[in-house]
Amino acid sequence: MPVDPHGGKLVQRVAPEQERQKLLREGERYPSLHADEETLLDLENIAVGAFSPLEGFMTREEVERVAAEMLLPNGEVFSLPVLFQQREPPRVVAGESAAIRDVQGQIVGILEIQDVYRLDLPALARQVYGTDSTSHPGVDLLYRKGEYAVGGRIQLLRFPTHRYRKWVMTPAQTRILFAQRGWRTVVAFQTRNPPHRAHEYLQRLGLEIADGLFIHPILGRKKEDDFDSETIMRAYQLLIARFYPQDRVVLAGLATAMRYAGPREAVFHAIVRQNFGATHFIVGRDHAGVGNFYNPYAAHRIFDTLPAPLAITIVKVGAVFHCAVCGEIASERTCPASHEMRRTSVTMTTIRSLLRAGKTPPPELIRPELVGVLQEGLEGSALGV
Ligand SMILES: [Zn+2]
Repeated sequence: MPVDPHGGKLVQRVAPEQERQKLLREGERYPSLHADEETLLDLENIAVGAFSPLEGFMTREEVERVAAEMLLPNGEVFSLPVLFQQREPPRVVAGESAAIRDVQGQIVGILEIQDVYRLDLPALARQVYGTDSTSHPGVDLLYRKGEYAVGGRIQLLRFPTHRYRKWVMTPAQTRILFAQRGWRTVVAFQTRNPPHRAHEYLQRLGLEIADGLFIHPILGRKKEDDFDSETIMRAYQLLIARFYPQDRVVLAGLATAMRYAGPREAVFHAIVRQNFGATHFIVGRDHAGVGNFYNPYAAHRIFDTLPAPLAITIVKVGAVFHCAVCGEIASERTCPASHEMRRTSVTMTTIRSLLRAGKTPPPELIRPELVGVLQEGLEGSALGV
């Protein structure tokens, strides 16, 4: 492959089939740790190597190094904590094994407990998110998951049941797919929304510079007003089928929660896409940001200040908008500043509020062919589907 996974090898912590039954029986004798939906998604991501070089949930030492220096103790860059949090003090001790159980109580994995510890959540939030305010959705989620944590290597015994299953691929699968297509360069595109015209501009830029485009939307917990996974994926399927060279695009979902950690999450997103086999990663304006918590270009600058460079190439793109003078989607680098008053920003917030008001968003914001899928998505979420 043209790019190694972060840390040099793709982590594999899925129990081999011949050991699975034995491990499940052993697990019945271990103390239990219950995992919520986001923790289960990350258990699976660790097991299949999406979070390489992580082999488990972080210990206190790992969290502290990542929060303070963006480094794992082994010297690899890592920017976000990956935690197994608990609201109550866990009744397990370091050195033993625990059975990780899903919401239904079924064993899904084994944790080799290396550390049981208490987190200083506001301090961690300030280091990672740059704020300890609960009005930040990532910080709010961090607090709600509890101040206790267990760390250690994991083994996945059963793939957890979740509604994103039909969309996800493992890094091993995408790497094989990219190789089969003969792609030497793959540009990955992160999103948490259905595609609008500014997204499309960036994706076409990706198609110009690389052999293949890997569209990898985050499917997992998001803000209340974000679109649901089904709508995002259906809109992309339509866009790819009708408007993209299909043999040059791969679409798959990444099932993990959005953290809205801005620059730190941009680094995390890049590392994850490298693990999936991407050689390039597009980072737009205010990547993974929320509200006004981050400078829109902090997610670009962070890549210049990492303790070590990443193997994946970062494609930094400024603000993309529709310019009435240029008569098309353009960016700060292609449209002169004198057109500033004639630019319209292309955001999903604008498109959503037009749809909610019963209006059809103009074609310079979103392709008319996709409007129906988005309308259905909004109706579905209004019904609580
Ligand atoms: Zn212009």
